[in-house]
Amino acid sequence: MDLRFTADELAFREEFRAFIRDHLPDDIRERMRLGYAPRKEDTVRWQRILNERGWAAFNWPKEYGGPGWTPVQRMIFLEENQLAPAPEVSSFNITMIGPVLIQFGTEEQKRRFLPRAANIDDWWCQGFSEPGAGSDLAALKTAAKRDGDHYVVNGQKIWTSTAHHADWCFCLVRTDPAAKKRQEGISFLLIDMTTPGITVRPIVSIDGSHHLNEVFFDDVRVPAENLVGEQNKGWDVAKYLLGHERTGIARLGKSKERVKFAKQAAHEMRANGKPLIDDPAFRLRVAQLEGTELLQATTELAMDVGGPLSMPDWAQELEALSNEPELGPAWASEATKSYLFLRAASIYGGTNEIQKNILTKAVLGL
Ligand SMILES: Cc1cc2nc3c(=O)[nH]c(=O)nc-3n(C[C@H](O)[C@H](O)[C@H](O)COP(=O)(O)OP(=O)(O)OC[C@H]3O[C@@H](n4cnc5c(N)ncnc54)[C@H](O)[C@@H]3O)c2cc1C
Repeated sequence: MDLRFTADELAFREEFRAFIRDHLPDDIRERMRLGYAPRKEDTVRWQRILNERGWAAFNWPKEYGGPGWTPVQRMIFLEENQLAPAPEVSSFNITMIGPVLIQFGTEEQKRRFLPRAANIDDWWCQGFSEPGAGSDLAALKTAAKRDGDHYVVNGQKIWTSTAHHADWCFCLVRTDPAAKKRQEGISFLLIDMTTPGITVRPIVSIDGSHHLNEVFFDDVRVPAENLVGEQNKGWDVAKYLLGHERTGIARLGKSKERVKFAKQAAHEMRANGKPLIDDPAFRLRVAQLEGTELLQATTELAMDVGGPLSMPDWAQELEALSNEPELGPAWASEATKSYLFLRAASIYGGTNEIQKNILTKAVLGL
């Protein structure tokens, strides 16, 4: 098997690199390079630039507004976008709800939601996990009862990323509590976040950021036309969605970009009176990472380059204390936040233990 890129694929990589060079706003690139998480407005701005070129919905077929790329082109797109570094397109919009609607949605749902998802006119969030239903997702309890041409939703979701920004939430709800198998009583609903009865409460994570939320539903009326697929068949939709979610989590380009950044920063930092980049132990560590490219380990590397300067200066976040002088280069404390937040990379798409269980059962047949 020949694993080399074809001439067309290499040309495509060059075309996308040139596009990024010409179109990625400098302020966004610099924030990303220094290791800040993209702000909502950064993601929206870049996704709209990509969408104008027909590239934002990178994994969708042409008929629905995507570029109709091959898997290799998609991989190149993701890698180059992360290497830039540029904000990623919204995974909730592009790799989750988009493919789900293309596969299971009605024509009306596709027409209404897909173009807006591609252009991020709607910001989507994912309401799957609940207290008591994470790895064991089928234990979910949030109930949706049919009442005329509406469902009435009651219950609670947790760990809902960016729900505080969201216009819409795709949600798993229990529509048949008496079903013989738990998986057979679940449905997939699209919920407008401005509907009365929804409360979003922030959860501040270990890195000091507000990314996660609890979402409460209190007699929330959802039009029945917002059901995706058949009632009580939402588990099939969820499995399809999770397959797409998990493919985007490795973020190889991001790992490479972080190693590159740590190497650049190591020219500035000194250890034992010499630039850190000349330290043999540091060079060995870089060489090992360049071999294995693990996102968590690469953020740890950037944090270690900052040394004591990486102690998070969270006071900077608090306007009231903003007179404090900066303790070190901004990237150093951002590296720590990123290191802390990315502990979640082995949890948020389904934990590594659960992934290994799935692989041993479904793939290896053990
Ligand atoms: C940063 C972040 C963002 C997230 N965003 C979202 C979101 O937007 N929407 C959403 O719906 N959810 C989201 N989640 C939730 C995520 O899907 C869950 O955290 C994950 O599925 C694990 O569930 P849990 O936290 O309840 O842990 P548990 O299921 O309670 O697991 C706890 C530990 O037990 C282990 N464990 C559990 N069962 C088994 C088993 N059978 N065999 C072996 N080990 C097991 C797990 O691997 C883990 O180590 C997010 C989580 C994080 C951290």
